[in-house]
Amino acid sequence: MKITKIETVEVTVPVQAPLRFAYGVHIAFTRTIIKMHTDEGIVGLGETAASAAQVEALGKPIIGQNPFDLDVIRNIIGNRFYWSRDPLVASGLEMACIDIMGKATGMPAYRLMGGKLRDAINMAAYCFYRYPSEETGAPAVSTPDEMASHAADLVDAFGFRTVKLKGGVLDARTEVATMEAMRGRLGPDIRLRLDPQSAWTVETAIEMVPRLETVGLEYFEDPVAGQPNMATVRQRTKLAMSTNMCVTSFDELGQAVQIRAIDVILTDPWYWGGPTQVKTLDTVARTMGIGLSMHSGIELGIGMAVMAHTGVTMIGLTAAVDAHYHHLTDDIIKGDMLLPKDGVLAPPEGPGWGVELDEDKVEKYREIHASGIYRNVYVEANTVGPDPNRPGWFPIIPAW
Ligand SMILES: [Mg+2]
Repeated sequence: MKITKIETVEVTVPVQAPLRFAYGVHIAFTRTIIKMHTDEGIVGLGETAASAAQVEALGKPIIGQNPFDLDVIRNIIGNRFYWSRDPLVASGLEMACIDIMGKATGMPAYRLMGGKLRDAINMAAYCFYRYPSEETGAPAVSTPDEMASHAADLVDAFGFRTVKLKGGVLDARTEVATMEAMRGRLGPDIRLRLDPQSAWTVETAIEMVPRLETVGLEYFEDPVAGQPNMATVRQRTKLAMSTNMCVTSFDELGQAVQIRAIDVILTDPWYWGGPTQVKTLDTVARTMGIGLSMHSGIELGIGMAVMAHTGVTMIGLTAAVDAHYHHLTDDIIKGDMLLPKDGVLAPPEGPGWGVELDEDKVEKYREIHASGIYRNVYVEANTVGPDPNRPGWFPIIPAW
């Protein structure tokens, strides 16, 4: 079998309300959908945050390769020159190859990756301070009490047993008060996480530690920037420390272990270079005594299917997986959205990732992307600014 063509389409799907994070606001999620064609007529699906132009340029040299040769393909893409080592491209193309492998053999992707160790992945309620939306009528979430109610609504709707607050948005004391309000509202049995996205100084993080230890966190994610600062905070708390910012590749892992900077890595099938690389990290992290969780980079349905198929095969992935997905208004796959039930998401059954594109929706959200109605304010920060509600604002990290 040979790869004959790599087709891409950029789509933008709006969210229910503008989501605030330390670096700006998400008003819609933009993803590049990959359709990899073969000489046997099989089309494999992938999804990534890399642009269509990047995927097409870096994907060209794998035309003619056998999609089963995942290591060959990753080396061709990643070792053309140092600038070609973009894991977002290699991962999206690897996902399309695995989908082809599944469709060619009639097997679900989880079987190709070693089989299901559990039936489903646990999912976390990802909570954001947000602006109100005129389009959907969704109200603002701006205060500790509003966030506690919002989190309780998500727990009721989807059965989440883990709740994460995206911090680094309001001042640190208000965010800790938000965690206290969430604990009060949700009770002792829900696992709580706080992720200030490295917007705090070491001094602020250490000052907040006693209150957060009283709240009780499953883990304290990236309060400060960089491994040395994380190690300093980690020495001052009983809380487990996690990251998706100071360890994002195998190259960064050795020092983090050496200086004891972290307890948990939020892995990611895109940033780590593909599902096979996340599987490798599962083994390496376990060997190093580091726990695993999974990061979300604003996925659509193909991405959620990838996370579920990959996650159920990973021994170390017992923690709930982050997903922005429940904030979306729609998706581009056929059938129901891949929303969690009873707090878990099972991998869709069927060959490969088990999902099919709804071509009408792909066209709808391709047009919306092309129209620029929902500008990606984060990417187009030079013209729009990272937060349309705060003209002239730009993030300074650390902020508190
Ligand atoms: Mg994070």
